[in-house]
Amino acid sequence: INPAEWAANVIKQDEIDRYLIDGDDFIDDNLIEQQLEEHRDPDPKWIREIIQKSLEIERLEPEETAALLNVEDEELLNEMKEAALEVKKKVYDNRVVTFAPLYCSNLCVNNCVYCGFRKDNTNETRKVLNMKKVKEEARNLVKMGHKRSIVVYGEHPASDADYIAESMEAIYDVKVETKHGYGSLRRVNINAAPMEIEDLKKLWDVGVGTYQVFQETYHHETYQKLHPSGPKSNYRWRLYALHRAMEAGIDDVAIGALFGLYDWKFEVMGLLYHAIDLERQFNGVGPHTISFPRLMEADGSPYTQNSKYKVEDEEFKKLITVLRLAVPYTGLIVTARETPEIRREAMQLGCTQTDASTRIGIGAYSEEYTEQEKKRQQFILGDTRDLDTVIKEFAEMGMITSFCTAGYRCGRTGDKIMNLLQEGVEGKFCKLNAVLTFREWLDDFASEETKKAGEKVIAQELEEIENDSFFTENNLLNEFKNYYERIKNGERDLYI
Ligand code: SAM
Ligand code: SF4
Repeated sequence: INPAEWAANVIKQDEIDRYLIDGDDFIDDNLIEQQLEEHRDPDPKWIREIIQKSLEIERLEPEETAALLNVEDEELLNEMKEAALEVKKKVYDNRVVTFAPLYCSNLCVNNCVYCGFRKDNTNETRKVLNMKKVKEEARNLVKMGHKRSIVVYGEHPASDADYIAESMEAIYDVKVETKHGYGSLRRVNINAAPMEIEDLKKLWDVGVGTYQVFQETYHHETYQKLHPSGPKSNYRWRLYALHRAMEAGIDDVAIGALFGLYDWKFEVMGLLYHAIDLERQFNGVGPHTISFPRLMEADGSPYTQNSKYKVEDEEFKKLITVLRLAVPYTGLIVTARETPEIRREAMQLGCTQTDASTRIGIGAYSEEYTEQEKKRQQFILGDTRDLDTVIKEFAEMGMITSFCTAGYRCGRTGDKIMNLLQEGVEGKFCKLNAVLTFREWLDDFASEETKKAGEKVIAQELEEIENDSFFTENNLLNEFKNYYERIKNGERDLYI
């Protein structure tokens, strides 16, 4: 297949038009600039009311979010940070979810100026993994103890929807013997180009977890400049990628913006408007997670060193704080692009997921992956610590790493999970399953030191479960204890 011809046929205009309102999309650049301008100096009393609203676990409106974005006063900012952590605790308690990216292909028909995979970057060695290699990569992740992966693809006929579906099946197929039974990747999420509904259904059929597409920048003009050619140059095809996914049945979708391409406050507003439009068009179901990667240096992509919108650390922490307050139910992902210090702080501001032992080259989890190839990947990472080390750090911070994927397999997804979250019930199941899956993980994969730190967290959790009347009233305590003992004795994959 000729890639250019293939690329010319990707976009289906009618699958954009169906979501427009009066022929327009939901990002009004002028309105956003105006909202940010109008609330440049917000009244502290109003800010405290907004904080209160988030603490009641209500999504904020754009005007309120614009006001929070403009807070400069140290004392108020600290109040916002404290509230962000409290919101996180209310919805997610002390749980954190880990995953590893798995890059399958870097052939790409697009030319995003900031990405090492862009078509015109001749420095990049191009690869598409065959299924044997895909399985090998997955096997290496399972051996490290991973249970979730986000699989990443360039946009190209060699990695089209059929390839993606096939690779997902290959990954789900991998089983690795562990001390007790076998390990596998129980949830395969993907980060791939926008697709038509027909193709998205193919991914749903093979059990895609979350489908993730970042808008990169919500600012129309900047978007056009930075995505000069290929299907990705169509802003709206990308803006409605997740609407189409929802329509195809994939009810866990993930949005994101690449911070450093345009004004960070504008991008936070864009993310919020995106969440609101998904809620509006799909029965109140917003995105499952939001990502906010910062632009990293990429080999062969000089734009990454020259952007004038680089987001400083303090701004980065503020944007996480505001997002946590603006969308209390939505998971927030901080990635290995960030340094260990920033990631630690991000977790204290409300992030709920992060990756570990991350490698982002094609075939990078295999032994023959060379030092030279490590440099020539999509971008440069800030934190390459392994899963065991990251989990130990979390445990020392009092956080439990949950490997639970039960919510998805029991159908606690989409609007169902939203209702459960709103009633505060989902969190209760999550707590039990977090302990069960962490117990499994500690026994199968942890180093002695991590195990020590992990046992303390588990003891604390067991005590809390014992003392929470919800579990006794709903006859869950005995079932949980029974499962816990069985897992300790070597049974695996039990969940409530
Ligand atoms: N090709 C698909 C697409 O663009 O949607 C998916 C894969 S792409 C490699 C995944 C994400 O990497 C992009 O959405 C972008 O946000 C991020 N990315 C690209 N270049 C980056 C850079 N230099 N620094 C940080 N993140 C980058
Ligand atoms: Fe291709 Fe995605 Fe990189 Fe753009 S960001 S060049 S679409 S891989």
